[in-house]
Amino acid sequence: MHLCIISDVHANLPALEAVLDEAPRVQLLHAGDVVGYNPYPAEVIELMREKRILSVLGNHDYAVLTGDVSAFNPVAARAIAWTRSVLEREHLEYLSQLELELRMNSLCCVHGSPGDALWEYVHPGEGLELHLRNAGAEMLVLGHTHVPFYRKLGSGAVLNPGSVGQPRDGSPLASFAVLRGEEVEMLRVEYPVHRVAKEILRAGLPAVLAQRLYSGW
Ligand code: ZN
Repeated sequence: MHLCIISDVHANLPALEAVLDEAPRVQLLHAGDVVGYNPYPAEVIELMREKRILSVLGNHDYAVLTGDVSAFNPVAARAIAWTRSVLEREHLEYLSQLELELRMNSLCCVHGSPGDALWEYVHPGEGLELHLRNAGAEMLVLGHTHVPFYRKLGSGAVLNPGSVGQPRDGSPLASFAVLRGEEVEMLRVEYPVHRVAKEILRAGLPAVLAQRLYSGW
């Protein structure tokens, strides 16, 4: 299996374009949160479709579809409301066909965890064996935390490629991974953060969403 694994693009078009430029010409798999936070939701959905990037549904995608922001902080909720105001019907249709879980051979991909695909945060500490067992897979691919990690376990491995559109591990560089057979390569790529930051402010989204991109939190 040769795949490029990405996650949490969050409507950051320049970051997705930078990753696509660096990625090998193989199938891309996205672990959810196509939209939210950043100002290019329509463009990102269109590019995801054009490049035939496979994706599962993330909690922000779900919130945009339903309008239910009860689990979100005020900043995230504002970005969801803004996203709903700019998307066309075709974009919502794209989000509505995303599944909670995607399986390819011995790989299972969900946004949160196998037991709670939308909301549970899985960190690279305890419980990875259990999540892998719950998935019934050899390779479990997760997103949601925006922090990249790769752990080999006795019975397989768990991979979070980090976030393309809003990294939270102290680095502003877009994060992704390339899976080739048993080997996983974790990669980072620079993109024009200032362009996204300017557009966030122009769109009237909360300024903190622009600030956080510069330092990766
Ligand atoms: Zn996310």
